[in-house]
Amino acid sequence: MFLSDKAIQEFKDIVKKEKGVELSDAEARDQGERLVSFFEILMEVSQVELRRKKRLEKEPEGFHLNEGEGPYNCRVCYESVSGKGVWWDLNGIKCLDCQRNINESIIPAEICDNDKLWIKDWQFQSDYDIHPSTRRKLIRTGLLHGRDLKRDNGSIYYTVYLVNENLEFLKKYPKKRKENVEFIAVGKNKVQL
Ligand SMILES: [Zn+2]
Repeated sequence: MFLSDKAIQEFKDIVKKEKGVELSDAEARDQGERLVSFFEILMEVSQVELRRKKRLEKEPEGFHLNEGEGPYNCRVCYESVSGKGVWWDLNGIKCLDCQRNINESIIPAEICDNDKLWIKDWQFQSDYDIHPSTRRKLIRTGLLHGRDLKRDNGSIYYTVYLVNENLEFLKKYPKKRKENVEFIAVGKNKVQL
């Protein structure tokens, strides 16, 4: 996206006023054009979302995406899926196996849109300091309850831990407090906001 000299000047004025930083013309062009590209992507994403919502009027249960759409990550198991391998409804992108598990009420659809309702496999180590072997032990001893998601052939491919089924565990193993990490964009390859 090419910006006019006038737009570049306006961008420089805004950055100076808001951030107190004086950008050179080259820096302003670089950052300004990156910013515009970023918003173009956001616009594109929201247009795709709108188009899909419109399609729901005719297919209220949801639908497979078209060939060529994707790859995306399943909102539940994070597997990379695309085209006909995706089921889309208002709960977003799901692989077909996770969608089947939702349809069969193995897991509630609400978890797709609310990370606070469940704990993911990788969070045990990073958020609760629990090694995978300890997690398996906690499951065996009954403190931790998981809902196993199965493929068509019966093999377990992912486990979802619902918060409301693991209150006792959460009381015993409170979530570690996360350090606040601040990323500062420096250098001409990053957009400074
Ligand atoms: Zn999935």
